[in-house]
Amino acid sequence: MTPSFDAVVCGAGPAGAYLAHLLSKKGIQTLLMDKARFPRYKPCGGGLTRRAIDLLPFDLSGIVEDWTVKARIGLRSCAPLAIEVPEPMIGMVMRDRFDHFLVEKAREAGALFWEGCAVGSIERTMDGFRLETGCGVVTARCVAGADGVMSRVRRCLGLSPNTAVPALEAEVHPRRGTDLDRFRMTVDFDFWAVPRGYGWVFPKADHLSIGVFSTDRKVPGMRRYLHAYLARKGISHGYEVRSIQGHLIPTGPPGTAGVVPSGAFLLGDAAGLCDPITGEGIYHALRQAEGVSCAMERHLAGDAAASSLYEDAVRREFSREIRPARRLAFLLYRMPWVSDRLLEAMGERIMGYHLDVIAGRATYRQVFRKALLPGTLLRVLPGFGGSRPDGMMPG
Ligand SMILES: Cc1cc2nc3c(=O)[nH]c(=O)nc-3n(C[C@H](O)[C@H](O)[C@H](O)COP(=O)(O)OP(=O)(O)OC[C@H]3O[C@@H](n4cnc5c(N)ncnc54)[C@H](O)[C@@H]3O)c2cc1C
Repeated sequence: MTPSFDAVVCGAGPAGAYLAHLLSKKGIQTLLMDKARFPRYKPCGGGLTRRAIDLLPFDLSGIVEDWTVKARIGLRSCAPLAIEVPEPMIGMVMRDRFDHFLVEKAREAGALFWEGCAVGSIERTMDGFRLETGCGVVTARCVAGADGVMSRVRRCLGLSPNTAVPALEAEVHPRRGTDLDRFRMTVDFDFWAVPRGYGWVFPKADHLSIGVFSTDRKVPGMRRYLHAYLARKGISHGYEVRSIQGHLIPTGPPGTAGVVPSGAFLLGDAAGLCDPITGEGIYHALRQAEGVSCAMERHLAGDAAASSLYEDAVRREFSREIRPARRLAFLLYRMPWVSDRLLEAMGERIMGYHLDVIAGRATYRQVFRKALLPGTLLRVLPGFGGSRPDGMMPG
């Protein structure tokens, strides 16, 4: 007999595992499946922002390896900024442990977990979906694609592949006698460590996760930029680079998230919406898991509008968060002569606004409005009343 479920969730990253937890808590019979066996490594900074942590109803103290209260921010053309806050702003996790923890939470809530089991194809049926997987055929009344940026589910549902930008991450361990004290409780972000992007150093319990991210899809030589960044941060003798792995971060296109047949949902990287400035994706994955769990519950209860309500929620989120963040990212990475002047004039204030976003106290829409008040532009930008530094031409 073909196993049959209320919901099948494909992919057990933060989006899928948390969705399976929420569905099971509601008493919905859920199968969670992942092509990998867990715990599995995932190239990721593992920076859980305050707003992501606040979404999770779990004690993360055994999982978070360092709580950061300081940020050192390197800028392109002006002095670096240093910020210190009283409350931790980012909790550092390793994704193998964090994702496994969420999968265990899903299982504790009653979800069935099939690991080492890839979804191959999905067909619409009269009363739901039929999935061919590495572990055989299953049927479900609802299906969720949480299978990451290269989502197979997304393709099976007839959507175009995600557009995505590259990121590269190294796990760097200290050799005997080297300590990590100078990196403890601190995040380093260095803008333009790579063209149209930034480099980061995130401290973990016994090592550092160091990476580079570019918003330029075709930037050549990411590995070269990563090595240059390691050297710039003084990571050479005394450290051992144990792995370097690349992965993609989705950046849209807008308006495709959730636009799938009734009863099918995309979330997390599969839906394509990460923070266009920083590449942060875990917060959006968890938030979408909440939205999909409510929509699936309504769909299973016979509400024909459930899918479109989820689409509306995604669109609202898009216009509140992603669209204004894209505009800011455009300014930061594509118009550096403008963003340099803004950061010179009000860098600390802008970083303060960004802290409000990652703490969940403000949206990017609010930041966009505050950072780009017409008065600010008048004061700061050449041609609008500000003075242009010698030799610097807009272009
Ligand atoms: C280098 C790098 C650094 C990053 N740093 C951060 C950071 O510090 N903070 C942050 O918030 N975000 C960060 N991100 C983004 C973040 O990693 C993603 O947004 C996040 O992992 C999305 O979660 P997800 O559950 O949607 O997908 P994923 O975590 O990608 O999980 C998808 C799962 O689906 C499984 N899968 C794939 N195909 C199939 C299939 N056919 N069948 C079954 N299972 C399948 C995979 O094995 C995987 O387990 C970073 C990304 C990169 C590349």
